[in-house]
Amino acid sequence: MKEGVVKNANVLKVDNFLNHQLDIELLEEVGKEFYRIFVNEAITKILTIEASGIAVACFTAKSFSVPAVFAKKSIRQSNIQEGNQTPINLDGDMYIAKVESFTHKRTYDIMVAKKFISPSDRVLLIDDFLANGSALEGLCSIVVQSGAYLAGAGIVIEKGFQPGGQIVRDKNVRVESLAIIESMSPEGGIVFK
Ligand code: 5GP
Repeated sequence: MKEGVVKNANVLKVDNFLNHQLDIELLEEVGKEFYRIFVNEAITKILTIEASGIAVACFTAKSFSVPAVFAKKSIRQSNIQEGNQTPINLDGDMYIAKVESFTHKRTYDIMVAKKFISPSDRVLLIDDFLANGSALEGLCSIVVQSGAYLAGAGIVIEKGFQPGGQIVRDKNVRVESLAIIESMSPEGGIVFK
């Protein structure tokens, strides 16, 4: 309420504590809270997406005493200008999923090396925001490809007026958001659910 800046009807800036400068005490509490919520799931791995999910994932992983893995983003081949292509997955050793970036309006491939998620893992997905759900759907796809068990997703801020929460919950994924925004506007501020 105090430090979030509503940029427009769809974008909340939280670079004071979550996306650029990091409020470490808050992140520690976030990690503990996700541990409290998912403690019975025998989590073996935390999976997030670079860059802004990493800090939250680290503190959550510390609470569970398990590793954190972040999916790497690369611009999709079709978006890359000719002559500037980076070959990916040459050895077929990556799980890959497509993600539409909410903040940059681009399509990415996200990638995780197969050696870091195995069928015996029990994975908790973590991200800072849930908006249209593309990032979370991409992470779900990677877990499905790996054959690991998907225990659920922990989100710091869900924008409840955008469709991602419903889309992912409709796929029977347990999504737990610490704050859900019902509506927001530069004039009216933020209304929590
Ligand atoms: P989605 O894939 O659910 O549409 O968007 C989720 C991703 O977009 C998050 O990983 C987050 O980085 C970014 N994002 C979505 N909405 C916002 C927002 O309002 N503010 C900020 N700072 N990032 C957002």
